[in-house]
Amino acid sequence: MSEKIGFIGLGNMGRPMSRRLVEAGFAVQGYDLDRARLADVAASNRLSAATGLKELARTSDIVITMLPNGHIVREVVLAPDGVAAGLKSGGVIVDMSSAGATGTAQLGAELKKRGIVLIDAPVSGGVAGAEAGTLSIMIGGDDEAAIARVQPILAAMGKNLFRCGKLGAGHATKSINNYLGAIACAATAEGLVMGTRFGIDPQTLLDVINASTGVTGASQRLFPGQVMNRKFGAGFALALMAKDVGLAAELGRSLGMDAPYASLSEKLWAQARDAMPNADFTEMAKWIERQNGVELKGRPS
Ligand code: NAD
Repeated sequence: MSEKIGFIGLGNMGRPMSRRLVEAGFAVQGYDLDRARLADVAASNRLSAATGLKELARTSDIVITMLPNGHIVREVVLAPDGVAAGLKSGGVIVDMSSAGATGTAQLGAELKKRGIVLIDAPVSGGVAGAEAGTLSIMIGGDDEAAIARVQPILAAMGKNLFRCGKLGAGHATKSINNYLGAIACAATAEGLVMGTRFGIDPQTLLDVINASTGVTGASQRLFPGQVMNRKFGAGFALALMAKDVGLAAELGRSLGMDAPYASLSEKLWAQARDAMPNADFTEMAKWIERQNGVELKGRPS
């Protein structure tokens, strides 16, 4: 594999994703603001630890970012000692974080002036999908040659690679998907709490929903696997879900749309995040339970 990859952000997702790249035979340099984490991941994943962003970019052909949000990506890329200062003209940045589509389009336009291509390629599938290399990857970009060039790199981390459209389309797709997942999670909790308060056994109600038109991924998998058995450990932070819902609402606003479900969800997920800053996103159900004095319990899974 001749492309040299720089991987920035070695957190819950970046750690296993960068490992997949090393295992596929790519030369990978890693960087993380958290020096202890960088040293730990470098040792466990057998990748080299960069001393700074500019230095990493200077010795990379392709830079991947897997960071908490688009504001941090922008800072990491455009800071005086950042990625763009080191990357050669013709270099490619692939932002795999979940970020805002509008900000991505703006960043891409700024990078284009420097001869750098930006591709957005956010993912779905969580830590388990990252470990197994089975992530769904949503690709947005305007440079077909650059997208073809990064294809083998993305294929080492994901199973389903979707070409979504222009630059920012991957980020828009990701935020819309997560917004729908979030709304299904919250609405299912609300419905089950409502039924319980009426006197219906929540497990019976869930069984009916799963055999009827109210069925969603939340009712089929999340509630049996995380809520009814009180596990609340899907491994995706409520704060990150709140961010994604906010990004979908922001996308609607940027398009001049009236999107009341997205706006209300944005508000409710932000309130839950403020009340439970370290919660798993499935604890949204717990938050709705608490507000209504009900605890949902079902058969153990
Ligand atoms: P995380 O918080 O575990 O990892 C982020 C890493 O970025 C941390 O190690 C942090 O130290 C590092 N970082 C922060 N600021 C930095 C900077 N300025 N320079 C260098 N490193 C910096 O987050 P995660 O769960 O790995 O998520 C990463 C992205 O992937 C987010 O955008 C998230 O929304 C998205 N995502 C997460 C999941 C999931 O299940 N966790 C699933 C799909 C998408």
